[in-house]
Amino acid sequence: MMGPRQVAQGALFYEFSIEDYVPKDHPLRAIDRFVDLSDVRPLLAPYYSEGGRPSIDPELMIRMLLLGYCQGIRSERRLCEEVHLNLAYRWFCKLDLIDPVPDHSTFSKNRYGRFRDSGIFRHLFEKVLQRCIDEGLVGGEGFGVDASLIPANANQTRGIDGKEGLPPELTSQAIDEYLATLDDAAFGAATKVVPKYISPVDPGARWTGADGGAAYFAYSTNYMVDLDNAVIVDVEPTVPIRPAETLAARRMIDRIHNKFGLFPKKLVGDTGYGSAEMLGWLVEERGIEPHIPVWDKSKRTDGTFSREDFAYDKAADQYTCPSGNTLQRYRRNFTNPRLPKVSKDGTVKYRAAKQNCSQCALKTKCCPNQPARAVTRSVHEEARDVARAIRDTDAYMTSFIQRRKVEMLFAHLKRYIGVSTMRLRGPKGATEQFQLAATAQNLRKLAKMVPQPV
Ligand code: SF4
Repeated sequence: MMGPRQVAQGALFYEFSIEDYVPKDHPLRAIDRFVDLSDVRPLLAPYYSEGGRPSIDPELMIRMLLLGYCQGIRSERRLCEEVHLNLAYRWFCKLDLIDPVPDHSTFSKNRYGRFRDSGIFRHLFEKVLQRCIDEGLVGGEGFGVDASLIPANANQTRGIDGKEGLPPELTSQAIDEYLATLDDAAFGAATKVVPKYISPVDPGARWTGADGGAAYFAYSTNYMVDLDNAVIVDVEPTVPIRPAETLAARRMIDRIHNKFGLFPKKLVGDTGYGSAEMLGWLVEERGIEPHIPVWDKSKRTDGTFSREDFAYDKAADQYTCPSGNTLQRYRRNFTNPRLPKVSKDGTVKYRAAKQNCSQCALKTKCCPNQPARAVTRSVHEEARDVARAIRDTDAYMTSFIQRRKVEMLFAHLKRYIGVSTMRLRGPKGATEQFQLAATAQNLRKLAKMVPQPV
């Protein structure tokens, strides 16, 4: 039998509770346990004027932003629509059924204005990290570091010739931020090489072909990850250039130490972090074991002897060549010993005696085109030797497998958090976006790993 026609009839009064409606096992309930925004208002108070119309509650906007990142909703317009329609989202944002949802343009105004300069997103990230530490998810023994390219929010086919630079008549907030970071080694001062193109809408992004395919404008998001449970312990934006990324790694290690007292015994990373300077900093200055492949270009491919064919004698500070002669820094005996002459790339040269090489039977296999052989040694060679020795251990194999945890976080960042391209522009926009994304990833981790009380 066909039932009666169902037609919605508006009731005069409703008795409805969003709290009751959202299921007890809804994923947002698990996340909400760890969102504490009680100190957001006093932190942001200096960025609001004394008079004028009351603003939208900043706590509500930050809840909405966190929701967007946790649920992978990239568009602010769509986020507003979803919060308007979805009861679970309303519940998470602490809105009742009839409470108004902020307009998407309000987000832009706050994000490009008061939120950006307040440091509120770093504060949030650190607060969630502290919760991860309190819940015992951070071991602090071993950290992994890596960077991932995120294409900029810019027309990838429209760039200004890097040698010409930006036209002076162009102005925007992204350009101001770009100019403010020109001397920062993580951005403008990362390299002296002039980029092939500069984006007129986001000049802070760098033209890069680091992926091996077609070049594009991009930022790098750098993660420092605790390897126990893959909790992100720090995040930093840079241009996608290795010196900037290694600098970010150092900044993150020091910041985590200063703020949370965490200091890793080992750092796991790929070859990009295996420069002599970085290994020297880790081993000699911080005493951290580098589980990192050594960046080594000393191997010769033309059949002549490589540096590894020369034996180094630390006590005498000299090399011995395959025919038994010595290579020294100075071939004269100075009355006052001289400091080693260090080249710009941080290496010292050891030379063989010309008379030895000219009579040597191995000359064609050693230095066929030079009168005498010379080998270079990094001032951080001992730190490089430490990294080489670690590479032959079982612990290194474990670290090699653990490195995938960091790569997996980047895969999640792009697939589930939705940060596969930038939405905001400028170095500060990149900072905000990466910090929010890392906060969302840690919140999801907490929700997953800390069981809900029954
Ligand atoms: S060429 Fe010179 S450095 Fe090379 S093996 Fe002979 S003596 Fe040694």
